[in-house]
Amino acid sequence: MAARYARQVLFYGIGKEGQKTMMEKSVVLAGCGALGCTSANLLVRSGIKCLKIIDRDYIEESNLQRQSLFDEDDIKQNLPKAIAAQKKLQKTNSLIQVESFVADLNPTNIETLLQDAHLVVDGTDNFETRFLINDYCVKNKIPWIYGACIGSTGITMNIIPSKTPCFRCMLENVPPFGTAGTCDTEGIIAPIASLIASVQVAESLKILTNNYDAVSKGLLKIDLWRNEMKRIFAEDIKDKTNCITCSQHHYEFLTKNACSMTTTLCGRNAIQILPPVGSALDLVKLAARLEKVGKVSYNSFLLRLKTGKCELTVFPDGRSIISGTNDIAIAKGLYAKYIGM
Ligand SMILES: [Zn+2]
Repeated sequence: MAARYARQVLFYGIGKEGQKTMMEKSVVLAGCGALGCTSANLLVRSGIKCLKIIDRDYIEESNLQRQSLFDEDDIKQNLPKAIAAQKKLQKTNSLIQVESFVADLNPTNIETLLQDAHLVVDGTDNFETRFLINDYCVKNKIPWIYGACIGSTGITMNIIPSKTPCFRCMLENVPPFGTAGTCDTEGIIAPIASLIASVQVAESLKILTNNYDAVSKGLLKIDLWRNEMKRIFAEDIKDKTNCITCSQHHYEFLTKNACSMTTTLCGRNAIQILPPVGSALDLVKLAARLEKVGKVSYNSFLLRLKTGKCELTVFPDGRSIISGTNDIAIAKGLYAKYIGM
């Protein structure tokens, strides 16, 4: 234990006290893609009490270029990202608790999944989930760290409730980042994800050791291809807004109805379908039923059915990702036909 964190304890900003404080903290990582893999790896090596990883997706070949916790074996085994990440990370540091949740973070489960968090690190890929995290964290006064990247550009900002502008304040003043496309349509180079995640973890270390004076109070944007770096200071964001979330305390994303919600997974030619809350599926029985329909493979985490141009991936909670279509009606039709919940 002493040897494991020795170099970090030597660092003036952390020390023995800082390390001890960190080791009592629980962090939630929302999304384990390119940003999340790097964040999770650095956080687990730094030593905290618990890392909870929430991710709704499985690993695909196109992820390996930048999602550093995954390898070809994980794809062969059809592992969800959260499960593969947990396995790797627990080997990296057995002293801390690493938990995985193969789930879509939404208004129906956010209370449960984020309730013990001292900090939430953003590794998501969409605005909807970030607004939800922002509402929950501002309401419950939990710091969170926004991060996003596309192409060679990345952006990050700390949201410390009642001390800094929140995500909603920022979007009122700064043009939404990444709205022109996603990593699946515009591409991405791996270094920008590693860099932004590294900044997020550096900020995490400050927050987790209560070094709030050192915490960055504004927004940072970096373009590694054009060699540009830009800061927008907190005052320039906050003063222009009467924010619906942090000024008016109106948390509309927490009360949105997520039941039977469908989500188009940006640029991925895939659609996610959520079943009613509390649904459960027996994947073994489902596999037996679907074997007559098409090619079926399954493990304890997911079942996959190939039918025509589409592929259905179904999770034990009834959630499904249907790839090969961007048409919600087609996806819903396939879900009704084969899963039928
Ligand atoms: Zn705000």
